[in-house]
Amino acid sequence: MKRVSIFGATGSIGQNTIDLIRRDKASYDVVALTGGANIAQLAHDAIELDAEIAVTAFPERLEDLKAALAGTGIIAAAGQNAIAEAAERPVDWVMSAIVGAAGLEPGLVALKNGATLALANKESLVTAGALVMQTAKANNARLLPVDSEHSAVFQGLVGEDMSSVERIVITASGGAFRDWSVDEMTKATPEQAATHPNWDMGQRITIDSASMFNKALEVIETKEFFDVASRQIEVLVHPESLVHAMVGYKDGGMMAHVGPHDMRHAIGYALHWPNRKDLPVERLDLGRIGQLNFSHPDPARYPALRLAWDVMEIGGMAGCIFNAAKEKALDAFIGHQIGFLEMAAVVEETLLQLSADSGLIDAEMTLDTVKETDTLARRVADEKIQARKG
Ligand code: NDP
Ligand code: MG
Repeated sequence: MKRVSIFGATGSIGQNTIDLIRRDKASYDVVALTGGANIAQLAHDAIELDAEIAVTAFPERLEDLKAALAGTGIIAAAGQNAIAEAAERPVDWVMSAIVGAAGLEPGLVALKNGATLALANKESLVTAGALVMQTAKANNARLLPVDSEHSAVFQGLVGEDMSSVERIVITASGGAFRDWSVDEMTKATPEQAATHPNWDMGQRITIDSASMFNKALEVIETKEFFDVASRQIEVLVHPESLVHAMVGYKDGGMMAHVGPHDMRHAIGYALHWPNRKDLPVERLDLGRIGQLNFSHPDPARYPALRLAWDVMEIGGMAGCIFNAAKEKALDAFIGHQIGFLEMAAVVEETLLQLSADSGLIDAEMTLDTVKETDTLARRVADEKIQARKG
């Protein structure tokens, strides 16, 4: 039996993970499930999968969780510390699927305990890539990508040597506004941005797909995960979202990963790695699909994307600042405080201001320094947002 914990169990990735586990319950011993506001789902899944402990991120929801789990023997807990403590429980495999920087700490704890960490929470690598990779290495823990592009690259590298890799190309659907003009994008609403043409995902990542902040995060994630130079990373717009990534080798050959837009493929690959098992995903009929299209992203319509290369150039804490400012800008956009294209402006201004402080950028990366930088960047981003509102 594989002992597993799922952080962010009530979200889109968490639910897809549970779907796979539910189909083969006898193979898994579920230890911890964590969620946020969706107490009913958390309690339901904890009971169904007979988890040891269920944790909500929000202390004010603890009583509701306790009530929902009364008489089951499942421990109920709440708060970020309780989530980190739940990550201390020994397991073989952990799904890191909390949204945002809150996903970093439980992932680090799991790695310290030597668990295999299936990483959907890309913010961990963007915010503290060096720390995450070092922690995995020092504890002999395996890190497996779940983001579809990174799973695709990982699969395209099987049996190959990194020294023969020339470039990595990740694809982007172009999001909700891929056919919109800059003018139209300026006026786009959160409701419009939250519908994705191809993937069914959480609200925040869907809006990040429309702005390509998601792709910017993924470019940085690529650099951190595969340890390649920023000039080796490319992005192509591919509206069909069927080729998830390509690895270009020195001899000119490219290994492209093609698969359905169903996250259960990448989650299942990480769950069963190094084996492949039957997964309940669509089998593609490329003869019927007929065409796959690719183009270069338009920098005027996706200003967020370019910022990824600025972040990689600055290095150090720049990723942490970038992610924190992006999370704030996204909150402000969702709250109708700033416009769609203003998100990139807020992040760029925050990055510009804070990257002038070399002491901050080059500080030793620990969980504490990352948290401090994150807090500072959120405050500065808030100032930039207020300035725009006024
Ligand atoms: P969702 O918003 O659907 O789910 C997020 C999960 O985190 C939920 O369980 C939510 O609880 C919980 N949560 C929310 N806020 C907090 C908090 N402050 N502390 C702890 N837990 C919290 O997100 P997704 O599943 O879409 O994405 C999860 C991660 O995976 C993100 O990093 C995303 O970028 C990445 N990812 C997602 C993909 C997708 O297809 N969805 C694809 C590739 C990567 P609740 O819902 O109960 O409030
Ligand atoms: Mg992705």
